[in-house]
Amino acid sequence: MMNVIEFFRNLPQKKCHKCGHAMVEKADCYGNLCDECDHPAR
Ligand SMILES: [Zn+2]
Repeated sequence: MMNVIEFFRNLPQKKCHKCGHAMVEKADCYGNLCDECDHPAR
């Protein structure tokens, strides 16, 4: 019953290379930057 949790726990946690903030899975689209650092309005 813990398969999903174990799966995510075993994944390396992605972090923003700029601010070091931990990112969730959609971060793949932004390379190594979080939403704040890769904000389109900047
Ligand atoms: Zn960032």
